[in-house]
Amino acid sequence: MKKILTLCLLLALPLLGMAQRPTLDREQLLKDVEVLSADAMQGRQSGSEGSKKAQAYLLKRFRQVGLKPFGESYKQHFRIESKRLTVEQATNLVGYIPGSSEKAIVVTAHYDHVGQRDGQIYNGADDNASGVSALLAAAAYFAQHKPTHTLIFAALDGEELGLQGAKAFLENPPVPLQHILLNVNMDMLSINDKGELYASGAHHNPQLKPYLGQVKPLPHAKLVLGHDLPEQGHDDWTAQSDHYPFHRRGIPYIYFGVEDHPHYHQPTDDYAQVNKTFYPDAAALVLDFIQRMDANAAVLEMKE
Ligand SMILES: [Zn+2]
Repeated sequence: MKKILTLCLLLALPLLGMAQRPTLDREQLLKDVEVLSADAMQGRQSGSEGSKKAQAYLLKRFRQVGLKPFGESYKQHFRIESKRLTVEQATNLVGYIPGSSEKAIVVTAHYDHVGQRDGQIYNGADDNASGVSALLAAAAYFAQHKPTHTLIFAALDGEELGLQGAKAFLENPPVPLQHILLNVNMDMLSINDKGELYASGAHHNPQLKPYLGQVKPLPHAKLVLGHDLPEQGHDDWTAQSDHYPFHRRGIPYIYFGVEDHPHYHQPTDDYAQVNKTFYPDAAALVLDFIQRMDANAAVLEMKE
């Protein structure tokens, strides 16, 4: 009997130690990337048939993971007029997990990509099926572990045409802008040889640095801070994805992404290239950070 008790205790100890660290369904995460970056989605260009297929899949997943719509639909329609393309009906997909506070953290990832060129499909597995799938995994986690803040999950359209989905979201936000305490943006999480996931934006939001520092490395991925200094030129990522319109409005943000790689905006950015050990760990690091920020309301309420 004593032996059994000791054994139980020994088995329980590592579990107790891990209880603080949120976990995600790695198999489902990879499956979502595989589906979203399949040829059937035709590169998910805004306004295309492929985009509609991606939306249908994402809507199904939004319902499955337990996201609630604001009003009757998850869809937020808007118009895009860019140099490259006019899209009469672009579509953000927005859902939320209610918290005990009406103050909100907005998690974003764009699901659009660049479509097809010269008969080749640009599948955009890393850019950004990887970010949207991580968003779904985080939503699934918080549906089961009630957050303190209202957590809004927005799969954005039109990023590749000039951060259009993020701009439309902020022009027509589902909650008052003053309630939005933080934006966590994910764009390209799945390909990096060095096991490095960058967290960019702490330079502009130094109050968030301690919480990034608390996110402990996993076996295949660790956080590195940077790519947010104006003197870095093109290596300053401040204006390079959907977090930028949030930053412009004075909303604190952290952007998670990997450094450029040879598959970036190439037809070779497909599921085969996704690093199947790095990526789930990278997604788990972001989830860890969201949970920490949700638990630390005080620092988010602090406005300069
Ligand atoms: Zn992208």
